[in-house]
Amino acid sequence: MDRFIYLDHAATTQIDKEVLDEMMPYMTYYYGNASSLYGLGKQSREAVEKARKQVANVINCNSNEIYFTSCGSESDNLAIKGIAKANQNRGKHIIISNIEHPAVIETCKTLEKEGFEISYAPVKENGIIDLDMLKKTIRRDTILISVMTANNEVGTIQPIEEIGKIAKLYNVIFHTDSVQAVGNLYINVKKMNIDALSMSGHKFYGPKGVGALYVKSGINFYRQQDGGHQEKEKRSGTENVAGIVGIGKAIEIAEKNRVQYNSHLKNLRNAYVKNVLNFNKRVFINGDMEERLSGNMNISFLGYKGAYLVEELDKRGICASSGSACSAGLPMPSSVLMNMNHNIKIAESSLRITFGKENTIQDVEYLIYCLNDILNS
Ligand SMILES: *Cc1c(COP(=O)(O)O)cnc(C)c1O
Repeated sequence: MDRFIYLDHAATTQIDKEVLDEMMPYMTYYYGNASSLYGLGKQSREAVEKARKQVANVINCNSNEIYFTSCGSESDNLAIKGIAKANQNRGKHIIISNIEHPAVIETCKTLEKEGFEISYAPVKENGIIDLDMLKKTIRRDTILISVMTANNEVGTIQPIEEIGKIAKLYNVIFHTDSVQAVGNLYINVKKMNIDALSMSGHKFYGPKGVGALYVKSGINFYRQQDGGHQEKEKRSGTENVAGIVGIGKAIEIAEKNRVQYNSHLKNLRNAYVKNVLNFNKRVFINGDMEERLSGNMNISFLGYKGAYLVEELDKRGICASSGSACSAGLPMPSSVLMNMNHNIKIAESSLRITFGKENTIQDVEYLIYCLNDILNS
């Protein structure tokens, strides 16, 4: 495709030029193994440790509480399986919300086969977790609560600080999948009582193939991969130095621009919503309007299939999504929307638009023009 407008930033983002420039030397000249003891290796080690500090600074933890992984999914697996297995002497009950990403849900399904019990805390119609229900789900043998910071389909932001307080009160470990949130929201793991947090470089203009996991020191968790003892024996494998440099630089840039970035995205999103509401079509906005990622807008166009809208937009050079990228290929209505609205008509007809930093108001105008065309043809 020669010209296209990318409106699917929740699926992935384009790497920032500044991030790529920072990474390039580590893919060319500085190719040393970070565990080697000569100069070339030490340069790689220093780069990895600098990135660890960059990540730690943004979420307010210590560098030694950050573990680099290969992606957000791996961070979720390592946190949830690792914590569950290391703490099962205290109980085998885990609570997750019923709108988690597959990286969390499927991880828990695997644990279920190994004798753990999983409870799904429901969200309300606006996509926000019901805290009273969450509290009622906690049992004496509950060892872990995992609730995402922000949802990938509807952008709904969860009351993480309150969940952190509840988890602390009941002495339960609290993990949050922050893959959609990091780079967008203010995160402070100390203030929010977060024990473990997952993130992924490619969701905030960093490279694909690198993630990070924060685990509070003192929380026991087992490694999922055996080998040469890298990452304090929690995640073996020669470090992806360039990728790690990339995630460090990307998070630093995101934090520096966070306020301005959010207001840019909000402008685009509000312009989009305003125009859609003027269409005179039956539409339904999915997810809370306030507690929501600035760049996310998920709207159901009743009477149209989401997949059809995505296909038609693609013909016009627009990249959008009808749900999550992961489930978009499947002919099933989004379970996230089903668990929010319990209405298959709404779940089937959703269109997710997620704006990013390179988008302009002209992109919104073109999107509106195309949607008008599609809905009225
Ligand atoms: C994208 C995403 C993941 C998976 O991250 P990868 O780096 O693609 O493995 C996990 N959770 C959420 C909420 C996501 O949006």
